[in-house]
Amino acid sequence: MKEKRGLLIGRMQPVHKGHISVIQETLKEVEELIIGIGSAEKSHTQSNPFTGGERVLMLTKALREYDVDPSRYYIIPLEDISCNSLWVGHVKMLTPPFCKVYSGNSLVQQLFEEGEIPCIQPSLFNRTEYSGTEVRKRILNDDDWQSLIPESVVKVINEIKGVQRIQKLNKKEISELI
Ligand code: NAD
Repeated sequence: MKEKRGLLIGRMQPVHKGHISVIQETLKEVEELIIGIGSAEKSHTQSNPFTGGERVLMLTKALREYDVDPSRYYIIPLEDISCNSLWVGHVKMLTPPFCKVYSGNSLVQQLFEEGEIPCIQPSLFNRTEYSGTEVRKRILNDDDWQSLIPESVVKVINEIKGVQRIQKLNKKEISELI
């Protein structure tokens, strides 16, 4: 029997095909999935170029593209807080009740386990390519980034001029180092 409701948290900078695979796999185990967009307040830096709202848009469009039933998930932006020991309570306050967490991030695993909420490490799909770092690196180098992310996310990145943003941010961060 499926568990009632699980939680998966990711920064999704940007949403890529690995995120979609882990969501599809997790939905085989739970009736409903809460998808938390982590570090929702962060944007306009090299490692967090996209706003929380832009990532909600990417994920909403991508899940529609992949025909994931919208009655089975909730997308919730989650801001970071400075105090790690209070973070699990902060996440619980902002999300529907859940009984299990899915995350490959060791700090997320540790904090939920200390909070006595079981945390499962999902399998990774083609992690060398399906990673936010790799997508951002390829965007910067004008390499093939489009094949790593859903088509609908390519459209969102083009709509918000995401390529130009990442390239400008890189110039800004280099000039600050000089
Ligand atoms: P991420 O986008 O890198 O990954 C999210 C999840 O997607 C991973 O855990 C993994 O399970 C899955 N995934 C990624 N690539 C995959 C692939 N190729 N195949 C299959 N699955 C794949 O995000 P993250 O860094 O894990 O996000 C954690 C968030 O939690 C961050 O925003 C972090 O700031 C937040 N956080 C906040 C606090 C705090 O505020 N104090 C504390 C801990 C964590």
